Formats: sequence, structure tokens, C-alpha cells
Amino acid sequence: MKKKEKKPLWQWVIDPQVIEVIKLIHFYNHWTIPVTVGQNILTAIKPFINVICSAMILDRLISGAGAFAVMQVVYWMVALNLVCSLLISVLDWLMQSYLSLNSVSEQRFSEKALQLDYERMEQTDVRDMIRLHDQVKNIGGISNFLNSFGRIVKYLVSLVYAFVLILPFFFTETITEKGIVQWIFTSPLSGIILAATLSISIWCSIINFRKKQKAIEEDWESSLKFNRITAYFHFSIAKYQNGKDIRSYRLVDIYLKRFRECMEQLMIYLKKQTKLEEEYGGRIIFISQTAVTLFYIIVGTKALFGVITVGSILKYVNSLTSFYESFIGLLNDLTEMNIAALHLKCDTDFFSIKNKKYEGQIPVEKRDDNEYELEFKDVSFSYPGSEHKVLDHVSFHFKVGSKIALVGKNGAGKTTFIKLLCRLYDPTDGQILLNGIDIKKYDYREYQSLFSVVFQDFKLFSFELGENIASNVTYDEEQVWNCLKKAGLEDRVKKMKNGLQTVLYQTGNEGMEISGGEAQKIAIARALYKDAPVIILDEPTSALDPISEYEIYSKFDELVSNKTAIYISHRMSSCRFCNNIVVFDHGGICESGNHEELLAKKGLYYNMWQAQSQYYEEDQADAEKVKNYL
Ligand code: ADP
Repeated sequence: MKKKEKKPLWQWVIDPQVIEVIKLIHFYNHWTIPVTVGQNILTAIKPFINVICSAMILDRLISGAGAFAVMQVVYWMVALNLVCSLLISVLDWLMQSYLSLNSVSEQRFSEKALQLDYERMEQTDVRDMIRLHDQVKNIGGISNFLNSFGRIVKYLVSLVYAFVLILPFFFTETITEKGIVQWIFTSPLSGIILAATLSISIWCSIINFRKKQKAIEEDWESSLKFNRITAYFHFSIAKYQNGKDIRSYRLVDIYLKRFRECMEQLMIYLKKQTKLEEEYGGRIIFISQTAVTLFYIIVGTKALFGVITVGSILKYVNSLTSFYESFIGLLNDLTEMNIAALHLKCDTDFFSIKNKKYEGQIPVEKRDDNEYELEFKDVSFSYPGSEHKVLDHVSFHFKVGSKIALVGKNGAGKTTFIKLLCRLYDPTDGQILLNGIDIKKYDYREYQSLFSVVFQDFKLFSFELGENIASNVTYDEEQVWNCLKKAGLEDRVKKMKNGLQTVLYQTGNEGMEISGGEAQKIAIARALYKDAPVIILDEPTSALDPISEYEIYSKFDELVSNKTAIYISHRMSSCRFCNNIVVFDHGGICESGNHEELLAKKGLYYNMWQAQSQYYEEDQADAEKVKNYL
């Protein structure tokens, strides 16, 4: 049987995850934790300044120490109060203006996400962490943690103060009286009874809070699943583009049914949480009331027998209650802090992800003649977590300057081939070589600068149009217009009120919606602006109207000039102009050659060509019409 690992004592009080979150906060900002500690220590000691100074004033008045001695304490009291208030205000201001974690954590989180290996970003566990991060942010996340942490510091100071006040109780004089009860309450045994009462009530409270924390933790795990689904529903409803399909296919009923199911689960979860709060809260009230009653009995009886003055009953009971309440507050906030730390596990896990991609140092040779050679050498690839070989022993060699078309059925592995070429993934087996050197050995950024890709599922962003094309906030406007002209969008942009400064998509008030075809042209312009030696177009004209498509094809040579062009298309007629056509089937290259050679082979390419050939004559006629029209 597996031996149960022994937990260090401190882990019963503070979950190790708390340490991870503190490290994360320290990483966000080195000053946040020290300032929070300072802020709360000052807030906790401020009331004691008045209590201690008042007592000193009273003592000096009673002992007839004179006005000067009394006023000295008054000045100190005023000065210390002022300094304390000033420091608290400065620290509050610092926290709010510079150390606010919400914006910093968002910024750091985005930076990390943008720098993470693409391969990791595509995996479900990482996507879950990102989704969860948003949910945790909405329920207070890091602020909850920091608030509990701060209150814990405050309670610790209060505990020390209350303890100092209670201490004399244990050293009161012993009166040798007859009778067992008198003896108990006049001897040091009364101190032991009081300490035992305090310890038992604290122990009961600890057990209560531990149980509460465990119950909440277990529920949190199970709540994640339906929280994720609810978040998905909210997200898809908020994405107005989904509205078309939801309405066309009458998905409203399915949506509402699934949504209702999730809400029911959520209600069960919330009811359980409320019940937990009531149950454990009720127990704590019972324990507290019993403890305070016992404090009164013990302290009161001691006063009754004349060991302490009647006036000190209040002092001791107040100190004991304050000690006990601070302790309960401490336990409560420890529980809250542990739970908040558990919620923030998605963040600490996210930041602990290491990029696995090997990044070499070799710079990519800058060649004016663009004489690069790329080679796939016996490359196989399976997506992470899958056994299925999407590419199986693929070997392929090409020189820059060639025009290559990748054709094949859906799922044959064409896009995966491109992803490997651009190093979004590394091959499971085999090597990809650039000028005879494994691409892993090149500086990653430099290697990526060799490629301009328009992916099938390309994305534009809600930035200005010019920024989208240049992928930068500063850009050469003339060059941007030139690329827009080549992509066939110049006239349209000229008509836009804000021209290149037009913000895409309606994320703010000013955003502009664009059609799928226009977006595709912008994506092509972006690839052209990058001016990389290899241009890759994955289904580049699927959303274009026939005239735009004709324009792109007729100017294709001009668009790509002396660059290598890799081109994926299901339109066989548009691949014809490529001098090397590579046919993919079941993860391998089954044929390659030019159009005539492949037709002569009468293999897969021939079959695909035949399947579409009836349209080619129509295409030809359409192209003539378009030419005349233009
Ligand atoms: P093609 O571009 O030829 O249509 P892909 O390269 O996109 O084909 O896909 C090849 C196979 O890899 C498909 O079976 C697809 O389901 C699978 N695939 C694609 N992307 C992923 C991914 N991120 N994770 C797992 N499998 C994937």
C-alpha cells in the first residue's frame, strides 16, 4: 500500500499554493507585498497608539507629573497619529496608482500568452487555463487573495497586542483560602483553565475552518466543468456573428436547453455554497459564544474572590474576546486566502509553462538573390496527444523562386506541412533543412522572417487597417498603399473616411465591419508588406468574388515576383501555372511534377482534375468575360 506522504505542519495552515501566488505577485511587482504588509501593520497599530498614550496621560495625571510631562505625551500622540495617517495614505495611494495588480496581471498574462510556443497554446489544458483566468478575474481573483493576505497581517498584530494585555492575568497573586473552588480560582490553575478554554475553542474553530475549506475546494473542482460550459455559451451568444447560424438552424432551443442545464447546475452549486457558509458559520458562532461565556465565568469568579479588581473584568474579557476574535478572523482569512490561491492555480500553472521549442542561435543568411533551399527529410508528425501520423515519412526538396502548389483531399496534411515549415510545430521524426542546416538551429525569429503566410483561418485584429497590414504601429504608408493596390483593395480603402487609420471590427465605437473577401485581401496585403522570401497562401481566394479572384491570379507572378510561392488550393485550374505541383494523400506525397506530367500519370491528380474539368471551360469563358469587363 502506498504510504501517505507526511505533510509539514505549516501546510495544515497555509496551502503551498499560497507561496506560489505570493511568488507570482512578487513577479508582477516587487513592491506589492511589502507595501501591503506595511499598510496593514500601520492600520493595526494606529488604535494602540491612542490606547497606550491615553494610559500614559492618565498615569501622569494621577501621579501629579505636571502639565509639561502630560503635554509631552499629548504631542507624541498627535505626532504619531499624524505620521501613521500620512504613511497609510501614501501607501494607499501607491497601491491604487502604481501597484494595482489587476492591470499588471492582465498585461503579464497577455505577454506570456503571446510568447508561448504555438504548439502549447493549441493544447486544451492551456486553453482551459486562459478561460479559467478570465473567470477567476471576474470573481475578484488576485484582489481577493491580496485583501485576505493584508487582513491576516492586521490580525497578527492585533493578536500580539491582545496577548500582551491578557498576560498579567496569568501572573496574579495567589490567595491561600480554604475551599476547592476558591483554591482553583485563586491559584495559577485558573490561568491554566483559561488557557485550556481558549485553546479548545481555537482548536474547534481550526477544525471547522479546515472542513469548510476542504468542502469548498472539492466543490470548486466540480464547478469548473459547468463554469467552462456556461462561459462558452456566454461567449458564443456575445459573438454576434454566430447569430446567423443560430437563427438559420433554429439552434435557439438547443442553446436554451443546454444553458438551462448549466444554470441548474450553477444553482445547485450556489445553494451548496450558501449551505456551507450557514453550517460552518453557525458552528463558529456557537463556539465563540461558548468561549466568551466561559471567559466571563473564569474572569468573573476570579474577581469575586478578590484576586483581580472588578474593574479589570472588562479589561480581561475584552482582551480575551479580542484575542479570540482576531484568531477567528485570522482563520477565516487563512481559509479565504487558501481558496483564492486555489482559484489562482490557473495563473501560477500558466506562468510555470516553459517553452519547449529549441531555439538555435545561427542567424539566417540575408541573401539578395533569395537563393534559399528548403528540404523535408523523412519527416513524420503527429499532433501532441495523438498517435495518428498526420505526415508520414515525407521527403521534399525545393529551391526559392519556385512556384509550388500543394493539392490533395481535405485532411491530407497540407496545412500541417506548412505549419511544420514555419516551425509552429517541430517534426516528431525527421528533419527540415534550410540550406542544409536543421531549421531548429536557426534563430527562431530570423527563421520566421523568411515566411509570409496567409492561413486559411487567418485572423485580422481590431487595430487600425494600416497597423494590421504592417503588423506594426509605425509603417511606410506608401508601401501599405502599394500592397493594398496589389491585393485589389486600394479603391475601397480610399473611400473609407479614416483611410489607413480605419479601425477594424466593432470592439470600440469607431470600429468598422468588413466582408470576408475584403478581410482576405487585407490578409494578402499583410503578407505582401512583410516582403519575405517565401510567400505561402492557403486557399487565398476562397472568399473572393470572381472578379477579385481573376485579378489575383492574373497578377500572381507580379505579386510574388522572384519569391518562392507555396500555394494550397482546391481549385485545380488555379494550380496549373505552378511549375511544381505536389499531391498529398493520407499524410504522404503520392505524386509531384508539373501539370502535364501529372495528367500523364493518370493518378490522384488526374482524377481530381477530371472531377473539376467540366467547370474549367466555363471558367475559361468567365475569365474572358471578366477580362473584357475590366
Ligand atoms: P489539409 O490542410 O490537407 O486539409 P490538415 O493538415 O489541416 O489537412 O489536417 C490533417 C489532419 O490533421 C486532419 O485529420 C486533422 O483533423 C488533423 N489536425 C489538424 N490540426 C490539428 C490539431 N491542432 N490537433 C490535432 N489534429 C489536427
